Amino acid sequence: MKTPTPLILVALLAIFAPAGTRAQARPFPSADVQKIYERLLKQIALIPIYNNHSHATFPDDSDMDAQAAPPDESSVIRLRDDNPEFVAAAKALFGYPHDDFKPEHAKWLIDKKKAAEASGSTVYWDRILDKLNIETCLANRVAIAPYLNPKRFHWVFFVDSFLFPFDNHAQIAKNGDMAVYIPLQEKVLQRYMKQEGASELPAELAGYEKFVRETLADNQKKGGVAMKFEAAYFRSLYFADPPREKAEAIYAKFHSGGVPSEDEYRTFQDYIFRVLIDQAGKLNLPMHFHSAVGIGDYFSLTNGNPLNLENVLRDPRYKNVKFVLIHGGYPHTLEMIWLTAAKNVYTDSSLMGYYVYPSELKNILKQWISLYPERIMFGSDAFPFNDAVGAEETFWLAARSARTAVAAALAELVAEGAFTEAKALELARMYLHDNAAKLYGDQK
Ligand SMILES: [Zn+2]
Repeated sequence: MKTPTPLILVALLAIFAPAGTRAQARPFPSADVQKIYERLLKQIALIPIYNNHSHATFPDDSDMDAQAAPPDESSVIRLRDDNPEFVAAAKALFGYPHDDFKPEHAKWLIDKKKAAEASGSTVYWDRILDKLNIETCLANRVAIAPYLNPKRFHWVFFVDSFLFPFDNHAQIAKNGDMAVYIPLQEKVLQRYMKQEGASELPAELAGYEKFVRETLADNQKKGGVAMKFEAAYFRSLYFADPPREKAEAIYAKFHSGGVPSEDEYRTFQDYIFRVLIDQAGKLNLPMHFHSAVGIGDYFSLTNGNPLNLENVLRDPRYKNVKFVLIHGGYPHTLEMIWLTAAKNVYTDSSLMGYYVYPSELKNILKQWISLYPERIMFGSDAFPFNDAVGAEETFWLAARSARTAVAAALAELVAEGAFTEAKALELARMYLHDNAAKLYGDQK
């Protein structure tokens, strides 16, 4: 029989062993955090990215998004035209010979991009991805673009338009943002009706449901890998669960005219939303949600709060549906990572990754990695800001910010004794590539 003495000795040795040899995290990083960062960053630069969200596009292509920025929109400081990082991006990607975007200088860049667009080839956007070591990129667009190589760019299509089949005058009259957004939703609905060979709305709800389900299935056949909701721009992300009879009565009353009340429209939308989730489950199509702050002058932080979706995310009926809450729920990033405690819920760092600087993105990623590292993905939300600063430059900004921020977050965690550098690189690969590749079924 063993005496307890050796165990006590082992315990004492562990307590007084030099720092760094014990598997015990500490609240302050060791002094070599900068060196660890540099070592990790070198390796992280080599990880090919799987980009969960972007609007890869030329600036004059109206299919880039199902909505547009309202005219008076005020942008965050990092995204204003005078951010010198955009000049650095243009230099890195194209060898831009100027130090600002004065119109006579910007012309050099605009001409280059126009020539690429005129060529009609897919080579241009492939090369942009290659330069940034982005392997695969989801392209959230109204339609697939012929200039994007389908092997590299996978389509995420929009579904909000199904929520607006009735007379939308009352919606449009709400504010200047809705006046811009809603007519664009009507256009997408018209486009889907044309695609499905329908000249008018079906006479009954059953017909409308069939149209919704078939459009999703056809979009998937055309290459769609996920559906996207921008619903937070139009209404609350809280969706009730009304009985079908209620939706049927509302549809019967308004499908051929008349303006529904706010309550009637919301009830109908809540029901159609449930049809969309059901079909997403049947088709195994992940559902993307804008769940964060948004552009425009009337965006409601309350409506966009991802906690509004909790009743849906935690509904056992939907446990096989994959929910992807894009933009990290920013600024609700801590609530967001706890929403991903459910195995079918994911998030990404798109949009917020270029709203905030890498020092702040580092803090968010550190928190996420410390909790559910298998649920987080990189996203660029690359988007053209004007004819000169395009999706190309925002791809650069987002990819660079994320690589440096994740390297810094992991360097701090390694220096705090959380885990080894080898484990840190595994976690970086999960964030930048593997989690998304697994979710969308790409075997690499
Ligand atoms: Zn986006």
